[in-house]
Amino acid sequence: MGGRDFPPHVAYIAIGSNLGDRISFCREALHQLQRAVLIKKVSSLYETEPVDYGNQGWFYNAVIEIETPLSPRRLLDVCQLIEQKMGKKIEIPKGPRTIDLDLLFYNQVIIHDEGLTVPHPAIPHRRFVLVPLSEIAPQLNHPTLQKTATVLLSQLKQGETVQQRYPAGWEGGL
Ligand code: AMP
Repeated sequence: MGGRDFPPHVAYIAIGSNLGDRISFCREALHQLQRAVLIKKVSSLYETEPVDYGNQGWFYNAVIEIETPLSPRRLLDVCQLIEQKMGKKIEIPKGPRTIDLDLLFYNQVIIHDEGLTVPHPAIPHRRFVLVPLSEIAPQLNHPTLQKTATVLLSQLKQGETVQQRYPAGWEGGL
């Protein structure tokens, strides 16, 4: 029938970089993503203190909302291909990386598969995800916790420093 897969799926992706020209890596990731998916919203770009492994530079982080007909697995494949293309190499677990793309949410779907967990399990613990997420999708519901992004952020204990570095528009027009 040649029918298209409508309505499109709505997903949220986190972008991070803490090596080299961080804003350029984040911009480049967005330009690469745009070739595969429809980018609907882009948060401010935040500068954030590293968690888990402290002996590394601060990150730039953002969250985007996208629409796509791709399945969650295909969407993760797209993210991982972009990471590889952009030279993501992690020598220390949780350590420095040129680019990191995480699939945060995919509609209200819950997945526990080999190599793919959705919603991303670290969301409720990460200020550097919840701050940009609350900026672009404050009412977004977490399907297992049944709490909005804003509520999850308000329940987070004081954690890593997250400061807005560039307002929305930093991506330079997609
Ligand atoms: P990291 O390099 O720390 O971002 O971890 C990447 C690994 O996490 C890959 O092996 C992915 O298959 C796995 N993974 C599981 N769930 C997700 C998700 N929702 N988004 C991104 N990576 C995921």
